[in-house]
Amino acid sequence: MSFDRTLGNIAAQAWTVMEEIGRLTGTAEAGITRACYGEGEQIAAEKVSHFAQGLGLELQPDRFGNLHGVVPGTDPSVKAIMTGSHLDSVPGGGNYDGLAGVMASIATAAAALRDGGQRRTIRAVAMRGEESPWFGTAYVGSRLMLGHSTLAELGGLPRIDTGRPLQEHLDNLGYASAPVMPISRDTVAGFFELHIEQGPLLTARNLPVAIATDIRGNIRYPDARCFGEYGHSAALPRAYRHDAVLAVAELALEFERFWEEAEKSDPSCVFTMGKFGTDPAAHAMTKVPGEVRFSFNVGSIREEVIAQADALLARLLDSITQRRGVRFEMGPRFGSAPSRLDPALIAMVEDSAKAVGPGALHLATVGHDAAMFHQAGIPASVMLVRNANGSHNPRESMTEADFVLGTRVLGGAAMRAANS
Ligand SMILES: [Zn+2]
Repeated sequence: MSFDRTLGNIAAQAWTVMEEIGRLTGTAEAGITRACYGEGEQIAAEKVSHFAQGLGLELQPDRFGNLHGVVPGTDPSVKAIMTGSHLDSVPGGGNYDGLAGVMASIATAAAALRDGGQRRTIRAVAMRGEESPWFGTAYVGSRLMLGHSTLAELGGLPRIDTGRPLQEHLDNLGYASAPVMPISRDTVAGFFELHIEQGPLLTARNLPVAIATDIRGNIRYPDARCFGEYGHSAALPRAYRHDAVLAVAELALEFERFWEEAEKSDPSCVFTMGKFGTDPAAHAMTKVPGEVRFSFNVGSIREEVIAQADALLARLLDSITQRRGVRFEMGPRFGSAPSRLDPALIAMVEDSAKAVGPGALHLATVGHDAAMFHQAGIPASVMLVRNANGSHNPRESMTEADFVLGTRVLGGAAMRAANS
């Protein structure tokens, strides 16, 4: 049978297993919970291993609990092609964020095992802990695997729900004697990730798949504060107030204006203050608010937009402080530069999408494990599958037809790369 036909059949089986994992790790109302190095993630790991084994593909764990399925190519002297995604979810998330990419990559490797004959080795990987809510940091599995961080650095991080350190959760799973796999730019020629779309654009355009062209850069302050002065809500005239809520609100609305302007030429620009609150122990309806805690997060695929946002932030903090008599403590700053995904790999996904049928839209994307490969100097590519209801919520949705089609696009691209 042809590789594509075989892959289509295996993808349909993978869908059934993915739905079963969904039922085992959550409910329709509460959503899916697969904690990094926790129970749900491990259930998914075991089901995925069992599924792969049934297809003749033995998955090998590495030292960090990532699972690898290796299908040797005909030429052992050339670098491998990798494909994969993550097993974990956010608390109360959807079933397909991460897991769809894992299942698609296992299906790709299993189809290559049957009908591949490809030149390069194909390596499917199911990774751990991509989502940040568990240990306060994202990409745990891929970062450790690619050597961006060490267990000495991350091992002490407490898991948000249990308080126990990462190292303890990992040790519990029994991978202490598993090998560190040699995954680097010296051994891997390219990484392909299938991921569920996290926004509404594909549904709006009536297309099943998209190719990510860039990964957004961002400026992030997760724990910022603004200090004003508490006062009496009736007795204090406006001119005497140092209102922290109004100060942060001004910052938010000024940035919304910046965003409106920026998106005329840069649709990838986003701005969010996902955290914004007064202190419940000190606030009251009848008090002028004296403190606000907030987060600040602006992103774009364009370096100049990030730079403009940075300059505007500095200007606004200064002028709001002066005019309103408040004080900002922005706290730790995180951020990354925007990155352009590999054009050669994008072209292979594009060719594959054309061959399978629908073609593909070009979009910017959020992080994903692919960003870690990209940062390790490994050419990386992300393709996105339609989702009517957004991600990180229980209503996240994918159809079987879209999953099978997306898997065929992913597999076709990986096979093109594996024969290049
Ligand atoms: Zn994800």
